[in-house]
Amino acid sequence: MALHLDDNIQFLSGVGPKKAALYQKLNIETVRDLLYYFPRSYIDLTSPCLIADAPAWEVCAIRARIVAKSAPQYVRKGLTISKVKVADDSGSMMITFFNAKFMVDALKYDEEYLFYGKLGGSPAKKEMSAPSVYPASLPSAFIPVYPLTQGLSSKMIASNIQQALQLLDEDLDDPLPQSLRQKYQLCHLHFALKNIHLPDDRESAEIARRRLVFEELLMLSLSLRSVRNDTFAQTSYLCQKTDLTPFLQQLPFELTGAQKRAIEQVCADLQKSTPMNRLVQGDVGSGKTMVAAAASYVAFQNGYMSALMAPTEILAQQHYQGLSKLLAPLGMRLALLCGSMTAKEKRDVKERISLGMVDLVIGTHALISEDVDLPNLALVVTDEQHRFGVAQRSKLSEKSDHPHTLVMSATPIPRTLALMIYGDLDVSSIDELPPNRRPVKTYVIDSKIKQRAYSFLRDHLDRKLQGYIVCPLVEAMENSPANLQNAQEYADTLARGPFAEYQLGVLHGKMRPKDKERIMDAFVRGEIQLLVSTTVIEVGVDVPNAVIMMVENAERFGLSQLHQLRGRVGRGAEQSYCILVSDNKNPDTKERLDVLHRTNDGFKVAEYDLKVRGPGDFLGKRQHGLPQLKIADLSSNMDILMQAQQAAAELHESTSLTEHERTLLQQAISRILRSVGDQLN
Ligand code: ADP
Ligand code: MG
Repeated sequence: MALHLDDNIQFLSGVGPKKAALYQKLNIETVRDLLYYFPRSYIDLTSPCLIADAPAWEVCAIRARIVAKSAPQYVRKGLTISKVKVADDSGSMMITFFNAKFMVDALKYDEEYLFYGKLGGSPAKKEMSAPSVYPASLPSAFIPVYPLTQGLSSKMIASNIQQALQLLDEDLDDPLPQSLRQKYQLCHLHFALKNIHLPDDRESAEIARRRLVFEELLMLSLSLRSVRNDTFAQTSYLCQKTDLTPFLQQLPFELTGAQKRAIEQVCADLQKSTPMNRLVQGDVGSGKTMVAAAASYVAFQNGYMSALMAPTEILAQQHYQGLSKLLAPLGMRLALLCGSMTAKEKRDVKERISLGMVDLVIGTHALISEDVDLPNLALVVTDEQHRFGVAQRSKLSEKSDHPHTLVMSATPIPRTLALMIYGDLDVSSIDELPPNRRPVKTYVIDSKIKQRAYSFLRDHLDRKLQGYIVCPLVEAMENSPANLQNAQEYADTLARGPFAEYQLGVLHGKMRPKDKERIMDAFVRGEIQLLVSTTVIEVGVDVPNAVIMMVENAERFGLSQLHQLRGRVGRGAEQSYCILVSDNKNPDTKERLDVLHRTNDGFKVAEYDLKVRGPGDFLGKRQHGLPQLKIADLSSNMDILMQAQQAAAELHESTSLTEHERTLLQQAISRILRSVGDQLN
């Protein structure tokens, strides 16, 4: 009986309950899971060296026969050494094994084996110690190496996989339709699975890999497409060309060239019958909010409603206040919807919305989680998009019939990731800061000279300017390292000492939303001069009168995060400062923090972060809402990604698929969606 991909691996011999439990830790339960557990690399035994030619001190494979074995030597408790002499036509050498008596006993005189290991000794007298040993006739000369996990060795996994492959039904269903495989020259799934694990040669392994990478990226594209506003739809919210003069006249400043360009692009999108799908990328402080404001004004002039979703209540509040000032005089009616509002307040807002009495609704997740109807919703703007998962954004879009979408981000996303997350999105870059901005001066200091920093701060507060101090912790916690500052105690200490004469405020994520709002309002109005806070103020907060940002235990934060924090100052015409306090002596840390001293450019900071932390960590799985990729690598499989995206679009529109092919595709998509279930809900 042939094995099927959906069969449980317990049908394989040697997989008892104990091993099954270990496999389960790797999320391997079915034959499919097992066969989609890919080797990390291969040991190449295809072209073994002659002993005479084997390069000294390098890892290589030797094909040789056993000519002599010495009796195992007992060295001390727990260490037995066995020596074996092997030879080929070019010469001979000694191989040493440690604690491998059984293995050595099993080696047969005069029989050939493959030995894979590092060469030692001298050119005249070569040696190898503790190599891996393989029979000379192997099912494949590439030995797969699997990521090691506790309790399961690469060899055990390999042997289970080999067995599964032998039993696997050759006619297994391939989720990639035949027509698609033909067009993109992809091998059949059976060939791919066989050759990714036990390739006949390098080329077959490559063919298998390409097909599996393609499959993974295609399924990902299709699944994202299924949760995303589908881009081929027609929007019902076509906008007419709109005169922006009243909006521009209302602004207290002249827009930068980059802002004007972005707004022009957005306006052009809004006049098209396909929904806009645009990302506005620009460093902190580049004025992205104005693009959103202009877009919502255009929608308003066309009789439509817009929604703006922000990741935190503080930011939603601030957008509400700032945009009301700008847009209300133009006749627009704004509303705020946050989770912390009372049931009655929410009911009122929802009612106004449903009666068509709101032109721009601003809110947090509440916009999607609350049972709000958003009739006539033509434009969905997501601020600081990286804070939201793919599905959260699409849920907001689902509240209407193919609305236009605009996402705004200060986090530069590698192009590949952006493509993956948004599909065929257009990008507007705001690569210019408003004029009269002086670059923030950044200094890294140690706490010995903190008193001087305090006095510097006081000088600025005396000039009616404001500042922030950010601490890594909210309050003192058990087990937290003694040197870590917490916002609550820190503020108390300042209030009793160096800042006794000043108005201090404390802000952190554990406070009730109403209290946060109260503190933030007081800070905006200037009643609080110095705000001691956690990173809740990281995103978006805009108080141009604040000019000093001091960060305690700066080594605890990521560079991009520090750059975001720094972006809270330098928003007005005054010279601003960012003071990073760190007593960490690690040279890598110093070097890292120094990057901020050297540059104010968010892209450069992100680049450095990317280099040091790698793309996996860069956006964090949570933040971009993508599943863990098993085989594709977004930093190097760009060409396959493009093809997979094209194929996804074609499949999406295809009318020639059979019912069976459709079902198989649908099942593959559901599997992906299930695997990221928590992120996509
Ligand atoms: P971002 O969201 O891109 O970080 P904001 O939209 O919050 O930036 O804008 C930062 C600050 O710059 C705000 O105080 C805003 O009013 C101001 N601003 C925006 N555009 C301009 C401009 N063209 N000239 C002067 N100030 C501007
Ligand atoms: Mg912003």
